[in-house]
Amino acid sequence: MKKLYGIFGGNFDPIHYGHIYSAKKLAKEINIEKIIFLPNNCPPHRDKTQTSLSDKINMIKLAINNHSLFEISYLETKKNKCFYTIDTLKKIREEISYLRPLCFIIGEDNLQKFYLWKDWKKILLYSHLLICPRKHKKKNNNELEKWIKSHIVYDCNLLHQKSFGLIFFSRIPLINISSTRIRKNYFIGKSSHSLLPPVVNNYILFKKLYYNNK
Ligand code: ATP
Repeated sequence: MKKLYGIFGGNFDPIHYGHIYSAKKLAKEINIEKIIFLPNNCPPHRDKTQTSLSDKINMIKLAINNHSLFEISYLETKKNKCFYTIDTLKKIREEISYLRPLCFIIGEDNLQKFYLWKDWKKILLYSHLLICPRKHKKKNNNELEKWIKSHIVYDCNLLHQKSFGLIFFSRIPLINISSTRIRKNYFIGKSSHSLLPPVVNNYILFKKLYYNNK
């Protein structure tokens, strides 16, 4: 079985147990060797928050705490620049051989908007797409649905046998946590300690991160 890497892109404002538990459970379910968190400084298709990139990165570092499964990639962290997944995956493939199976991990909420991503269909030329269960509003997009149907597989072992090109829906449990809810909690002075690691909670409190920021 070829060793599989997962790339987990996101805003991570802040990173929370939904990201961390999902990543650990995916690693077990699919036998993923490494999961690389890929913070995006300026995610396209979403409103900006006020948190600095360095705070977001510091929180990821604290949360993953040298866990051997996890790494961080800084490929999408240049200030004042927008990054698109397709371009980042091309760069990653310059570093990582096409023989290495790669999965790009997204939640089901993001899959609904996937057809808005730059060159979305070409993403499968570089990696698989691994979908995590996530609360979402189903939007019907025929082109997206047809595309999913023509690439979906139900056996996760296939993600090791091919290096890219497949879509797999994970069966890990749904974890109902979001960064939006956490930011709102801090804003109104409500505790979020059960939603993210204690070190991240302490960092947010120390830096008063979300007091003026929903
Ligand atoms: P926000 O509430 O600000 O939109 P978020 O909680 O969705 O943030 P992001 O950093 O935007 O977090 O998410 C990065 C990726 O992780 C996305 O693909 C998203 O779908 C996925 N994700 C986020 N939270 C969860 C969760 N609880 N379970 C599974 N996947 C998640």
